[in-house]
Amino acid sequence: MVNAHNHSNENWFRGMWDNLPLEPWMLFSYPALAAPSQSPDEIYLRTVFGALEQLRSGATCVVDFLYELDGFTTESLEAVVRGYRDAGLRALIALGIGDRAYHETVILEEGLVSRELVEQLEAERPPSWDEWQRFCREAVERFHRPDEGVSIALGPSGPQRCTDEMLAGCAALADELDLVIHIHMLETRMQAVSGRRMYGKTLVEHMDAIGFLSPRVVFAHGIWLTPADIELVRDRGVTVAHNPASNLKLGSGLAAIPTLLAEGVNVALGTDGMSSNDGLDMFASLKLAALLHKLWGIDYEQWLGAREAWQLATLGGAQAAGDPAGLGVIEPGRRADLVLLDLESRVFTPLNDPLRQLALGSSTLAVDSVLVGGEWSVREGRTPRVDEGEILARVRETGREIVGRFDEAFELGQQLLASLRAGWLEALRTEVGVERKLSL
Ligand SMILES: [Zn+2]
Repeated sequence: MVNAHNHSNENWFRGMWDNLPLEPWMLFSYPALAAPSQSPDEIYLRTVFGALEQLRSGATCVVDFLYELDGFTTESLEAVVRGYRDAGLRALIALGIGDRAYHETVILEEGLVSRELVEQLEAERPPSWDEWQRFCREAVERFHRPDEGVSIALGPSGPQRCTDEMLAGCAALADELDLVIHIHMLETRMQAVSGRRMYGKTLVEHMDAIGFLSPRVVFAHGIWLTPADIELVRDRGVTVAHNPASNLKLGSGLAAIPTLLAEGVNVALGTDGMSSNDGLDMFASLKLAALLHKLWGIDYEQWLGAREAWQLATLGGAQAAGDPAGLGVIEPGRRADLVLLDLESRVFTPLNDPLRQLALGSSTLAVDSVLVGGEWSVREGRTPRVDEGEILARVRETGREIVGRFDEAFELGQQLLASLRAGWLEALRTEVGVERKLSL
C-alpha cells in the first residue's frame, strides 16, 4: 500500500492531544512561534522509527508531507532522505512550504489576542516564494531519485497559507521539473469559510482560476468540497488523499469518497501524521475506509467495502506517489514492492475470503516480510537493514526531552487558544454550501 499522506515531523507527538479540532490542535502540533530545533541525528531517528512502523503495518511507500517548524536546511532534509533509505521505505517527500504569516491564515477573534502576540506573528513571516523556489530546486537536484526510492514533490501547505504568487510558481515549477504537488485542501469548515472570505468563491474555484489544478495535483482531505468543486476536481484530473483516522480524531468531517469515486476521481488513502492519528498503521486506515462510508444516506451499492478501500490504498496511491507505472499492481516490470502476510496467523484463520479478511481484519498482526524495490526491508519479522531495538531504545531515551523543548511554543499556543476557539465556533455556525445526507 501507499500511505498517501503523512507528516514525519509529527512522529514525536504520539498520544499528545485529544478532543481538539484541527486549528486549535495546530497551535500545539505546528506552533507558529518558538518552535525548537532538532539536530539532523534526531530528525534521522524520527524518520526511521516512523518508517519501520509503516513497513510493519502494510505500507511500502509513503508520501511524507514534510515540515521543519524551525526551517528546512539541506542537512535536515538529507537526514530524512537517509532515514528512508536506511529503513527501506519508498518515499515521496513533499516539501511543506508557505509564505503567509500565521494570523492571516485562520479566523481569529482579534479582540482576544494581545497586540504583542500579533506583532510576534508578524515578525515570524515565512520566507518568500523566491527563497522557497531556490530551496526546492536544490532539493530536487540533490535528492529526487525515483529509481532509487526517494522522490521530491512540492508541498504548498494550503491555499489559505500561500500567496497566489507561490501557488502559480509551484504549478510552473512542477511542470518544468515534472513533479507532483501535494496540498491540504478543505480539510475543515474553517478553511472553507476563510476561502470564501479571502476570494469571494471557494478555494477550489480560486485555484482553478489561477491555473493551479492539473493531474499533477493531490488534495489532502478534500472534505468540504461543494458539488461544483467536485466537478472541477474531476475535470482537472486532481487526486484526493483520504485520511479517515485523522478526519475522525480532529472532527474535520467526512469526505464524500463514494461521490468522488462515482464521478471518476482518483482517490488515495493515508494515515496522516502521528499527532492526528497516534499511529501510522495503514491496515487500520484501510479498515476505517472500508467501514466509514456505509454511514452515507445512499444506495448500499455505492458503499465502500474491502475491495474499494483496497483499491484506494494501492492503485489510487500509485498516482498520488507520482508513480502510476511502477506501483499499485503486482506484475512483471513494476517496482517489486510487496508485503508478505502469514496465512497461518489469526487474521486468516479460517481463510474464507483473503481480501475481506485483509481489509477488515487486524492484518498488521499478520505481516511477515516486506520487500521494497525487490530488497528485504522486513524479513520474517526482523528488520535486516537497521537495528530496530536500538532505534526504539534511542527514541524512548530522547523522545521526552525533545517534546519538552516545545514548552515555550505550547505556552504561546495556549495564549492564542481562546481567540482561535472563538473563530472555530464562528465557522461552525457559517453556511459553506456543503450538504451532508447521512444515515445516522
Ligand atoms: Zn496533512
